[in-house]
Amino acid sequence: MSRIICQTHGRQVAVEVCHHLYEALTRRQFLQASLVKSVKVRYDDLDPELNDLTDYTVHYFCHHCAKQYDLPLNKPLQSGERESLYQEAFQKMARVCVKCLEEHLVD
Ligand SMILES: [Zn+2]
Ligand SMILES: [Zn+2]
Repeated sequence: MSRIICQTHGRQVAVEVCHHLYEALTRRQFLQASLVKSVKVRYDDLDPELNDLTDYTVHYFCHHCAKQYDLPLNKPLQSGERESLYQEAFQKMARVCVKCLEEHLVD
């Protein structure tokens, strides 16, 4: 997890999203919350600045990606698994401001 400077929200936590979600957010499209899937990944080398907040980072995928790559939605991945089993899924991630994502999620 890292920080990003958002034009709307200023300094924020950055989250990684699949490129489909990224393109939708770039166009300011609203996203159906139930179709946005989150995958947690544990990292050994977490940012010390954020270490006290959480021991994993959350990556967001559209439901197409979640299905195509058979991503685990219920248990956190180890960083090694991310590299070995799901490398393709994580290749084309982009970083967005967490508030921009939240504000574009609708029920
Ligand atoms: Zn996607
Ligand atoms: Zn923002």
